[in-house]
Amino acid sequence: MRQGLGMLWVGKRREKLRELSPSEKRRLILAFGRDGGAAVAREEAKSVVAAAQNGGQWFFCACNADQNTVLVPYERTYVHRRVASSNAHSDRCPFAVDPVQQLAIVRSMRPHPPEKAFNLLSDFASDRGPLDEDRTAQFNTVRRSKLARVLIALAEASGLQTQDVGTRSINLQFNDLISQAKNFKLVGEIPLASMLCTYPPKLGEFLGDFNRRAARFNWPRGSRAHGIVIMKLICVENRNLVFSKEVKVPVSGPIAIFGRSDAPRLKDRPYIGIGLIAKQSATSPAEVIRAYIHPCYSHENLMLVDSNYERETFDYLRDLQSEYAGRVDFKIEKPLSDIGQRFQESTATDAEVDNQEIDAHGAPPILIPDFVVRFKERVRSDNDFFVETMGFSSQYYRAIKRRIIPEMRRALGGILHVEHDFYFPSDLTLDERHEIFRKAVRDKINKSSN
Ligand SMILES: [Zn+2]
Repeated sequence: MRQGLGMLWVGKRREKLRELSPSEKRRLILAFGRDGGAAVAREEAKSVVAAAQNGGQWFFCACNADQNTVLVPYERTYVHRRVASSNAHSDRCPFAVDPVQQLAIVRSMRPHPPEKAFNLLSDFASDRGPLDEDRTAQFNTVRRSKLARVLIALAEASGLQTQDVGTRSINLQFNDLISQAKNFKLVGEIPLASMLCTYPPKLGEFLGDFNRRAARFNWPRGSRAHGIVIMKLICVENRNLVFSKEVKVPVSGPIAIFGRSDAPRLKDRPYIGIGLIAKQSATSPAEVIRAYIHPCYSHENLMLVDSNYERETFDYLRDLQSEYAGRVDFKIEKPLSDIGQRFQESTATDAEVDNQEIDAHGAPPILIPDFVVRFKERVRSDNDFFVETMGFSSQYYRAIKRRIIPEMRRALGGILHVEHDFYFPSDLTLDERHEIFRKAVRDKINKSSN
């Protein structure tokens, strides 16, 4: 992990560069980084930008190994984060997106309100086709797609992301997930459940019946008839969602896979996929035109998960949950949506309001806690706590965590947190670090039973 706060230089291309001081770096990141942008921060960065511009210098960012990722001063006040001759910043770099894009990304990760229709697809005339977010879900530098929002809304509403002691059968888990479709609307007043296929062997029949099924509804102006397929799959292969050896669902457009570029067949876990069903033109047959895929925890537990580090953190929490069962019962939540409270009033159409808020406080960071441990049913207890997995050692990663943890705490009503650190303290073994985590969780559980 090379990238970090230590990797910003200033100078002229092909001449000897000077590494920026920690204060200069901090000022640039707060002014122009993805969750920065406040007027005060931009003011504080002015002298750094002006000094570079007066010297005919650029800033060089080492977020990519190529030494060709830059910030170019202009008007002695701002920076361009990319010019024609330079490369894009790494997806982990604070300069990967600007504060306005950051706000759109955070907003796309907020929970979907059930009373609002998903509005997945425009009419043929106004359709812009798949957007960036439909093509990739690998990094948090693009918005969450509308299709992904459907799956995540269902998963969070169904209880799939809230783990009790013991596991229900996988069929029950899947049924809980899809049964939530009755509570959400596809577009206008059309219930999601009425245009939903949940059994891939029957997809052919669903597609054949698409026109008749769609004709039962009044599709609002500006939209076009569409449906959804939700399925458990074992992998993605040659643009097919593989349900079983015999049953594969072809996807004619992009397939976005959460956190990675492929979805190989894995012994220990399946995926859940959601596909958008529609016609490509008024006369073509209905087909799956794009899809979103999210990895599950295991073949026995369909909880949607992020990274292997979090998987390991969950294993420890799960073990403690069983150990304490009957004495201290608690639930483990794996949230998938942003819990931030800022920008809740404004909508994406209030550009003016957005700009004022960014000017005042900077863009919001993404706030999705790794896990939340809750001791009471549906009510907050002061003993509840959240868990952050510290899965990388880079300075930038650590700086983000230091910044977002207090914000998460505020958003969760002031509860405390426990860190599961895979890298520090550096003089201990990995096993000893895991033990520190387990002990901290035990302390919290014991305290809750007093
Ligand atoms: Zn960079």
